[in-house]
Amino acid sequence: MATKIDNWRKKELSLEEVTAKYSDVSPFVILKSDVQRRGYLLTDAARALLDPKKHQVKARNIFLNRDEVNPVGLMLRDGTSIVGSYAEETNYGIRDPYLIDVIDGKLRITDEGRVYEEVTYWAKPDFYDKKTSKGTDMWQVLGVRPQRLDLNLNHHCHFWDEPGGGCKYCIIGSLSAEERKNHISHLLDIDDVKESLEEALKQEGRYTSICATSGSIITGDEPFDDEIDLYVNALSKLRPLFKDGLIKLQLVATAYSKKQLQRLYDEAGIRTYTSDLEVLDKNLFEWICPGKTKYVGYEKWKNSLYDAVEVFGKGNVNSGIVGGVELATPNGFKTEAEALSATLKEAEELAKHGVSVVNCIWNVGEKTMFNGQVPASLEYYIALAKGLNDIREAHGIDVYFDDYRRCGNHPGSDLARI
Ligand code: SF4
Repeated sequence: MATKIDNWRKKELSLEEVTAKYSDVSPFVILKSDVQRRGYLLTDAARALLDPKKHQVKARNIFLNRDEVNPVGLMLRDGTSIVGSYAEETNYGIRDPYLIDVIDGKLRITDEGRVYEEVTYWAKPDFYDKKTSKGTDMWQVLGVRPQRLDLNLNHHCHFWDEPGGGCKYCIIGSLSAEERKNHISHLLDIDDVKESLEEALKQEGRYTSICATSGSIITGDEPFDDEIDLYVNALSKLRPLFKDGLIKLQLVATAYSKKQLQRLYDEAGIRTYTSDLEVLDKNLFEWICPGKTKYVGYEKWKNSLYDAVEVFGKGNVNSGIVGGVELATPNGFKTEAEALSATLKEAEELAKHGVSVVNCIWNVGEKTMFNGQVPASLEYYIALAKGLNDIREAHGIDVYFDDYRRCGNHPGSDLARI
C-alpha cells in the first residue's frame, strides 16, 4: 500500500471549501473528482446491495482485468460517472477513501460521518455473461461504461518492448505481462469481437457510442502502419453491423501522419479522433513518455493533432492529459500554481488550432513506474477542469464524443452540458 500523507486534510481545501470557492462548477463534478482522487470503500450494508446479477462487477480493458465482486463504477443522479475507483484501484492509502454506505435505504457517498450524494452501481450489460461460439467470455472481449462500449483490439503497448519505453504513469506493460503469463492473448479475435458486438447491440437504447483504443504498434513501412491496418481491417468487418455502415466510434490512438489519418477517415469510417499528449510540456513529455518521444516527439505529436483537425473537422479532435502528472517529482512543476498556468497556456495554444484538451485524475498505480507519487489537491483538479472547459468553450470546440455520457472519465468534459 502507498504511504499515507500525514494530516492531509489540514494541508488542502476540503470538498466543502472547494465547492464554495468554485460555485460556478457543478458540485457533482467536484464530488466525482474527489472520489476518483481518493477512491472509495463499501460498508457491509452497501456491499449487501451489490448484486452480480444486476451490477457490473468485473471488467477487462487495457488498464484492468479482474472478476472479483467489486463495483466497476458508480453513477451520480445527474448522470456523472465515477469510473473505477474502488479501494486499491485508485490511489488507495494516499489519502482516506470515501465510504459508500446505505442511508435511509439508499446508497450514499459518506466521509467521516458526513453524508453526500446518492449513487447507484453501474448496471450489468445484457451480453456480459454470454460466451462467443469459440467459448470466449464476452466480458473479456468488450468493455462497458454506462452508455458506451469499449473495444481494445490490442492489449499490449509496444513502447514497453524497450526497457523504460512505456509511459511512467501507465499500467499497461505490467498488466499485459501478467496476461501473457496467464496465456491470455493481447490481440482480440475478430470473430469474437463481431459476435460480442452483435450481442451487445441487441440491448436497444443502452449505448451511444464505442471507444476504440489499444496499445501502440510501432511497426510498418511507416511507423504505426500496422496499427492503422489493425483498425482498418477490424472496423471494415464491423461496419456492416451499423446503420449506413458508419460506426459512432471515438478512436483514441497514437499520433499519425496525415496520410494515415486520411486512411482512418476513408477506409475505417472513423469520424472522431483522440491522440493523447498526456502532459502539456515538452520537457516533461520527454521524461514521462519516452516511447512517444522516441517514435514521434512532442512537437510532431501536436502537429499530428492539427493535421487531424483538417481531416476530421473542428470539434471532432481532442487530446487527453493525465491531470496532475505534471507535478510528478523530481522533474515536474514545483507548485500547483505553476503547473496550472503552464498547462492552461499550452491548452490555449492547442485550442487555437481547433484541438480541445481533456484531463483525467491521475491514478498512481502500484505497478507503474510512478508508484509512490502523490496526486494533486482537489482544488487543483477543479481549477484544471474548469480552465480546460473554459478554453474549449471560448474557442467554440465541441466535445460531444468525449462527454459525460460517452466517456465520463474527464472532469473537464463532464462540464460540457447545455
Ligand atoms: S502510449 Fe503510453 S499511455 Fe498509451 S498505452 Fe502505451 S505506455 Fe500506456
